[in-house]
Amino acid sequence: MAKHFNYLVIGGGSGGIASARRAAEYGASVVLFEDGAIGGTCVNVGCVPKKVMWSTSRIAEFLHDAKGYGFDVTVNGFSWPDLKSRRDAYITRLNGIYDRNLANSKVEQVNARARFVDDKTVEAGGERYTADHILIATGGFPTWPDIPGAEHGISSDGFFELEDRPAKVAVVGAGYIAAELAGVLQGLGSDVSLFLRKDSVLRSFDSDLQEVVMENMAEMGMDLRRQTQLTAIEKQGDGSLTLTTDAGDTLAGYDCLIWAIGRAPATEDLGLEQTGIKTDARGFIPTDDFQNTNVANVHAVGDVTGRDALTPVAIAAGRKLSDRLFDKQSDARLEYENIATVIFTHPPIGTVGVSEEQARAEHGDAVKVYRSRFVNMYFAVLERKQPTVCKLICLGPEEKVIGCHVVGEAADEIIQGFAVAVRMGATKADFDRTVAIHPTAGEELVTMR
Ligand code: FAD
Ligand code: NDP
Repeated sequence: MAKHFNYLVIGGGSGGIASARRAAEYGASVVLFEDGAIGGTCVNVGCVPKKVMWSTSRIAEFLHDAKGYGFDVTVNGFSWPDLKSRRDAYITRLNGIYDRNLANSKVEQVNARARFVDDKTVEAGGERYTADHILIATGGFPTWPDIPGAEHGISSDGFFELEDRPAKVAVVGAGYIAAELAGVLQGLGSDVSLFLRKDSVLRSFDSDLQEVVMENMAEMGMDLRRQTQLTAIEKQGDGSLTLTTDAGDTLAGYDCLIWAIGRAPATEDLGLEQTGIKTDARGFIPTDDFQNTNVANVHAVGDVTGRDALTPVAIAAGRKLSDRLFDKQSDARLEYENIATVIFTHPPIGTVGVSEEQARAEHGDAVKVYRSRFVNMYFAVLERKQPTVCKLICLGPEEKVIGCHVVGEAADEIIQGFAVAVRMGATKADFDRTVAIHPTAGEELVTMR
């Protein structure tokens, strides 16, 4: 006989945990199924270890810059294994915190893989469960290309398992993960080749953001291979990798290859074929504005839905869903417009709203762009000069700000506040009425002409 609960949550990542705890706080009986490490992608193989690595790479930059600030610094070395063990210990601590928080919220955890038996029943660890509502929050996993020898590479998951710094690395891809990991590795002294099948990283973002990141990648000494696809990977007797490109070139001597060519939804092993739940051509589960799937009382949030694959999005969607289902907040839903995002490149990008290219394609001459390119004062006494670009995309005679973009020092911390303004419908005049904070990079956004 199946055990019955108010809410079954499949997946203990950002979205599942947030939704399960919120539901339980309203008094719902909740079971959460997770067969991996609690916390999901973000905590274990995503945002958290990535941010540690990005911060490490930033420290390498600061150490390099210290001389320009008058310090007589000798760096005697960098221990990747030491850093990794501290990073792993931090994640283990977080896993414990998540476990305790779930227990404190009275969410029952089942450490097993869950599969649908039918539209209303889930099986896990040999037991059957039914519920008033079921949430699919199973996230995704890295995709792998179908070329000979691809298995000699690793994904971002494998990057976090590396026991030491690779000396010569090939990174393949052009999205968030490729741009971030290539920057981290080059910053920490690896010799990185970045393979782009087109001409730039981050092509869906404003062109100025792409340009500054690409410029700085070249400045850092990265080997940028534009319009290049790998067609075969061969492992040599000494363990090194030889790469063949679509131009017929053979590149030898790599000790690591990272595939960062996108992520796929974790829907394959979920028993969906035993249900009426629809997936799209790529396996994502489409949802309506309220996170409902096409089957009554079955919902989905987070990466598995194919919408903005970001942790705060999964969390917010999961919480809103529980507000609606278990607290009678019938209109509660996540609004997906103007979601800000940061890409932890060197330098970082902070962006919210539409790019100049998107705005012009949609609104033509009704768009006015304010743009400022300058060198942050941090570089005043340094020989290296890194550009910052701030950009406002404004619409119509009232100049409503529909895009706000920063690439440069501190962009990662600047954008959150400006995202509030953009969401509130601020105009360029509202920005200009705000007194600047000097000397900062952010002041540029309220002083542009
Ligand atoms: P997940 O966090 O992936 O959780 C899904 C969970 O479901 C997993 O733990 C999985 O084991 C479990 N599961 C799957 N199938 C089953 C099943 N059948 N039964 C039981 N359990 C199951 N986002 C940001 O906002 N900022 C960042 O800086 C950032 N950096 C990232 C860096 C990397 C390298 C990666 C890969 C991602 C990054 N992201 C970042 C994206 C972010 O990690 C995801 O958007 C977020 O984790 C999605 O949450 P989720 O709940 O949808 O899925
Ligand atoms: P993305 O979807 O961001 O980028 C993958 C890119 O790789 C594609 O856009 C494509 O770019 C390129 N690509 C695809 N196939 C191939 C191929 N066969 N060969 C070479 N290049 C290829 O995926 P990621 O895996 O980088 O990240 C997944 C998601 O995780 C992100 O979209 C983001 O939502 C989230 N994330 C968020 C982070 C953050 O918030 N800071 C950090 C990391 C991940 P093109 O068409 O230009 O070639």
